Amino acid sequence: DRTLEELPFSNSFAALGEPFAERRTPAGLPDARLVAWSPAAAELIALRSSEVERPEFVALVSGNAIVRGMEPVASIYGGHQFGVWAGQLGDGRAILLGETAGPWELQIKGAGMTAFSRGADGRAVIRSTVREFLASEAMDALGVPTTRALAMTAGSEPVLRERVERAATVIRLAPSFLRFGSFEIFHYRDRRAEVRRLADYAVERFFPAAAALDGAARYARFFASVVERTAVLMAHWQAVGFAHGVMNTDNFSILGLTLDYGPYGFIEAYDPGFICNHTDSLGRYAFDRQPTIGLWNCYALAQSLSTLIAEDERTAILATYEPAFWDAYATLLVAKLGLADSVDARRLLPDLLELLAARRVDWTRFWRALSHDDARALALTADDETSRAWFARYAALSAADARGDDLRHAAMRAVNPKYVLRNWVAQQAIEACEAGDDTVVRAVYDVLRAPFDEHPEHAAWAQPAPPEYAHLSVSCSS
Ligand code: AMP
Ligand code: MG
Ligand code: MG
Repeated sequence: DRTLEELPFSNSFAALGEPFAERRTPAGLPDARLVAWSPAAAELIALRSSEVERPEFVALVSGNAIVRGMEPVASIYGGHQFGVWAGQLGDGRAILLGETAGPWELQIKGAGMTAFSRGADGRAVIRSTVREFLASEAMDALGVPTTRALAMTAGSEPVLRERVERAATVIRLAPSFLRFGSFEIFHYRDRRAEVRRLADYAVERFFPAAAALDGAARYARFFASVVERTAVLMAHWQAVGFAHGVMNTDNFSILGLTLDYGPYGFIEAYDPGFICNHTDSLGRYAFDRQPTIGLWNCYALAQSLSTLIAEDERTAILATYEPAFWDAYATLLVAKLGLADSVDARRLLPDLLELLAARRVDWTRFWRALSHDDARALALTADDETSRAWFARYAALSAADARGDDLRHAAMRAVNPKYVLRNWVAQQAIEACEAGDDTVVRAVYDVLRAPFDEHPEHAAWAQPAPPEYAHLSVSCSS
């Protein structure tokens, strides 16, 4: 493990130069304190854990200093927002600091304005930063592909949102933050050479199977991988009950990572039409529309790669999305049932989802209860003829499992988490942090990094919101 100064930093994305990347020095937070850090994320970049005690670490995370070898830049991208081409966007408040071995890019969010801030302040508030820090690390622990969060700080600077809040920063990690919109911006500007250059950059660094090919085949292979990863990501979101909230193409990672934690929400009472973002009044990004929107976004990406890949090829690749999604989704849900994959096991799924929806059963609690014993899960669904009929079919299949109940249930508890980040728990952590107490953020982090363990002392966090938190609503504002 290394000290900060020993970490080898470079920035291959910055080397692309303009018009892809604009140099920008972070504007640091005054009076920043380290709120929390992720040992799991530090390990990814081989950062020695005692380093977080140093003022140099706080200075880095708060944007007050950079480390030798870093070359901070903001990147340009565009995007379809709520189905409409929004033109140029870009890193309005994120700065790519550099990359280190992995590769892992380090990006700071909330360190002031860039060339792409479009009149906004370049800041992030404690509320949204706590939510991003906790959710990034929670999703990873749940096995969902995601950008990561190394650490977050909070400062004293007032930031105006719906109310005055305090500024905060987070350093997030990903092999790359390239989005669908990174390609779209150049396509819609008719800059074919730039589309190709960016595709080559991505292919050479992250898509070895495509990099082995030349010409149109290389870009087709690249696009096929992105489509597949996107389908698999959507399957993970649906299985874990994650609603993203703002599935604009500028928030869609070409690496198939969950990107941009804004008004997201984990489903509690199972409602397929759940809308986590109260600004999404039409429900474009409702929970059950996510897989379709994932495909819509792939169509948008296909369009932006149309100078590199022929139409029939694009169409053929897009056709792989649906089967890839359904297969990944069914595989994940059958594993949650603790069954071997089979046609019969998959046949249990539609009726179960209907049952859970009709009775608004808490998604996470249901699966966890089922991982202990059927009776506990049955009790959550309102024990009547319909639910007993489903449980009888399930019992017939699970009884055939040679492992026996104890081993099967143990395997189920390793895929059905006891804890996801419920909004009300995030809210408790936020309120404490805003009042200067970071212990709740840290405790929630610890629980969410081991979401399959019992943590009896925090069992309340596995429960639906208590009445005083029942009416939380989440907007895009961050
Ligand atoms: P989002 O809805 O978080 O995906 O953000 C959409 C666009 O707005 C992105 O280009 C962001 O960089 C930009 N943006 C969001 N908040 C701010 C802010 N406070 N300052 C500057 N740009 C921002
Ligand atoms: Mg965004
Ligand atoms: Mg955002």
